[in-house]
Amino acid sequence: MNFDMQKSFPSRVSIIGAARSGLAAAEFFIGKGSDVLISDTCDEVKLVKILSDKGINNVRYEASAHTDRVLDCDLIVLSPGVPSDIPILVKARERKIPVWSEMELGFRASKATFLAVTGSTGKSTTVSLLGEALNAGGKDAVVAGNIGIPVISIVHQVPKDSYVVAEVSSFQLETIDTFRPMAAAVLNFMKNHLDRYACEDDYYNAKKEIARNFTKDNVLVLNANDDRLCEWANEMRHRTQIVWFGADVPGEDSFWIDGLLLKYRFRGNNGVVLNVNDMVIKGHHNYENACVASALAMVSGADVTGIAKGICSFKGLKHRLEYVDEINKIRFYNDSKSTTAESILVAVKAFPKGVHLIAGGRDKFCDFTTVNDAIKEHVTDVTLIGEAADRMERVWNGLTTIKRAATLDAAIDCAMENAVPGEVVVFSPGCSSFDMFKNYEERGDVFKQLVCKRNVTK
Ligand code: ADP
Repeated sequence: MNFDMQKSFPSRVSIIGAARSGLAAAEFFIGKGSDVLISDTCDEVKLVKILSDKGINNVRYEASAHTDRVLDCDLIVLSPGVPSDIPILVKARERKIPVWSEMELGFRASKATFLAVTGSTGKSTTVSLLGEALNAGGKDAVVAGNIGIPVISIVHQVPKDSYVVAEVSSFQLETIDTFRPMAAAVLNFMKNHLDRYACEDDYYNAKKEIARNFTKDNVLVLNANDDRLCEWANEMRHRTQIVWFGADVPGEDSFWIDGLLLKYRFRGNNGVVLNVNDMVIKGHHNYENACVASALAMVSGADVTGIAKGICSFKGLKHRLEYVDEINKIRFYNDSKSTTAESILVAVKAFPKGVHLIAGGRDKFCDFTTVNDAIKEHVTDVTLIGEAADRMERVWNGLTTIKRAATLDAAIDCAMENAVPGEVVVFSPGCSSFDMFKNYEERGDVFKQLVCKRNVTK
């Protein structure tokens, strides 16, 4: 059965996962008159509370396990946190029940044009820059998706001639079907989520699904400095348009940084979008994110002056190299969202030198040797916390002064100890937060409170 989500809706829907996306999907289907079952592995008391907090009453639900009740439906919608190969979904596929991510659902339910961004790091920053660029460049746009706003919850407010800027995770791409944004960017392929994927290639292949339905009418924006993406471009160029970012690729449409200028060559035109000194957010990685936002905004026909204005005024997202405070002329930055080695790398490289780095947390087994050269060049000392501290110390031993701290509070003292005016303390963990905190947001908020407390009491 083919439900287009514009006129035809399933009469029975099962939703797996009662998190933000799943609940938004449930509300959508309840509004369409479908009979909805929500299935989650959490305990019943918790599930009942989640549903009542959301004011969702008129659904069937099951807690603790996904039983065969899930299969009594015309469609299954999957929250991104739920792996797409769990046994109940294997059974669903055997029975030919369609399984969609909430992204697929949102795409089908929307009349607007989609622009999508995926990749290992930089997605949230890039979609935010793009939203600003479009809105300042004369196009109505709403940012949604993996950034924390389910697409299905905003589709009703985005008309046909507007844009949905979708941040898309590899998990959401595992269960798409007709999803076909007008243009999509893949920012980078880095080792990540190997706890969820059997091997690196499975993870990269999931990301490539973003262009699964692409034709010559679509545009794929790719990182010219990523060998895997360059290889993929060779496979894709016969069936879609390719635009590069990060380097001036001779003879091809490109957006790149030349000195302080963000330059472009696009559909026969050359020019400068902006001077990076005018951007509020700093760091070469953010200038590359700005290249991507410029490319996608230009594909959408936004005006260049507006694109520059939108990008330059963007103040950055919380927990991404976020400026916190200054104490005795030492500046403090919260980069709690950094959960990979690459994120530590771009964070320390955003400052010329004199970085007092605080890192560590739960080990995701990233390759921390990739940060070695930057540590030598930019970092004065490193204070390590959390479960990964032993391994990180072994990798970085001999490169710089390494200190250890039992708590984040003590780590701030260690990092400040030898800092002099003009230097920076950067909290860029490069690990997940779950050994000491609920999530990266809580970890970043605690860091900010601990820093601000010192400013009051100094
Ligand atoms: P995502 O949404 O993909 O997790 P974010 O925009 O939230 O990405 O950024 C997460 C972290 O990744 C930031 O703290 C920053 O240090 C790093 N980062 C941002 N953009 C890039 C990039 N283009 N390349 C490498 N690292 C980046």
